[in-house]
Amino acid sequence: MNTDWSEPAELSVCICAHLWLNFRTQMKLTSREPAVVFHNGTVVLPDKLLPDAVVVCEGGCITRVGRTRKLPQGATLVDAKGGYIAPGFVDIHVHGGDGADFMDGTVAAVRTACRAHARHGTTTIFPTTTTGSPEQLGAMLAACVELQRGGTAADGARVAGVHFYGPYFAPDKVGCHSQAGRRDPDAREYRRHFDTGIIRIATCAAELPGAEAFYREATRRGCLVTCGHSNATWSEMARAFRAGMRHVDHFWCAMSSVASLRQRFGTPMQASMEQFVLANAEMSTEVIADGCHLAPELLEFAYRQLGPRRLCLVTDANRALDMPPGRYRFGCASDGEWIESDGRVGFVPGGGALASSVVGLDTMVRHMKSATTASLPEVIRMASLTPADRAGVADEVGSLAPGKRADVLVLNQRLRVKWVFLAGEEVSLATD
Ligand SMILES: [Zn+2]
Ligand SMILES: [Zn+2]
Repeated sequence: MNTDWSEPAELSVCICAHLWLNFRTQMKLTSREPAVVFHNGTVVLPDKLLPDAVVVCEGGCITRVGRTRKLPQGATLVDAKGGYIAPGFVDIHVHGGDGADFMDGTVAAVRTACRAHARHGTTTIFPTTTTGSPEQLGAMLAACVELQRGGTAADGARVAGVHFYGPYFAPDKVGCHSQAGRRDPDAREYRRHFDTGIIRIATCAAELPGAEAFYREATRRGCLVTCGHSNATWSEMARAFRAGMRHVDHFWCAMSSVASLRQRFGTPMQASMEQFVLANAEMSTEVIADGCHLAPELLEFAYRQLGPRRLCLVTDANRALDMPPGRYRFGCASDGEWIESDGRVGFVPGGGALASSVVGLDTMVRHMKSATTASLPEVIRMASLTPADRAGVADEVGSLAPGKRADVLVLNQRLRVKWVFLAGEEVSLATD
């Protein structure tokens, strides 16, 4: 990457031909559009801060990142006003926002949630299924395919693929999802879902009958394969690993522990998903860093033990994001489980168990920065390059590097989102 040049940038077209074609068709951009230049800020790279630097974008791609005294003529200038110029966030685990759940299964619902998350800095999104009927899952996948086809900046965060999450959960770890929509893996069903081509992340509880076949199929289809809502033992995780599983959903939430396995098997006590992830350098995981799910010492522990290349920040947000406190359906609007939001977090009515988050990735980034010793580049990396890398889209998004899509955020010094650009186009931060 060219990170230091002093001459005016001679703007060249994006070096990445397939991306260029993609933008030409999807974004209807032409090479005559002026360059967009982000300046007067500190650029956040994956491994360091670059003070007083610029990011130049053209034709929907990043073309230059570095220091310069002269700005290209005729360019659209975006003044970071002494704040940070950061890559757009990548959310690999998210259920909805602004009143819509992806499982509502309509293009309008998917679009509403994607627009809400874009206002919080998420530019690449993996809409995430809940438990539900095969028909509900089919409708969700079809709606995501539809929006992915025609996506523009006005459609919000770009759908990079679906996280096929529910319904293959362990019966005793269903959490706030509908128990009626849970089942064991069914090859006829999941092959049909995989055939849509949009699934890039695939979850299943490792102890279920048929889990290994599911993992092998998901691996064959190029997915990030993950174990979640599971009470799996170390040996079940080891078998899953051999079948391609490399990630665990929301660490410490709806997953096995030494204590939960003692309840399942008695003594001798067995190692759990937690130990398997911590002990295996090829495994990654994610945390819900909203300040409600995990105490600061657990976030610090996860960061120190796993490091910023194996730990992702996710929202796991439900439809109550950017909505007033109240009762909401988690999952499909017709028959999802009822949850409540107090404006800070979702919880199961009456019981007090948490039921996913109601805030955006910008909140997670701010909280992770204030609650842990992770540096700003590390925190931003956990919300951008690391999830992009794990989900297999780091060639296109996840960091400010020439050739990647021009997904750029301007954050003020308190890390609040001031501007969002998606493929070089400004995203409106006004709520609908
Ligand atoms: Zn979950
Ligand atoms: Zn979730």
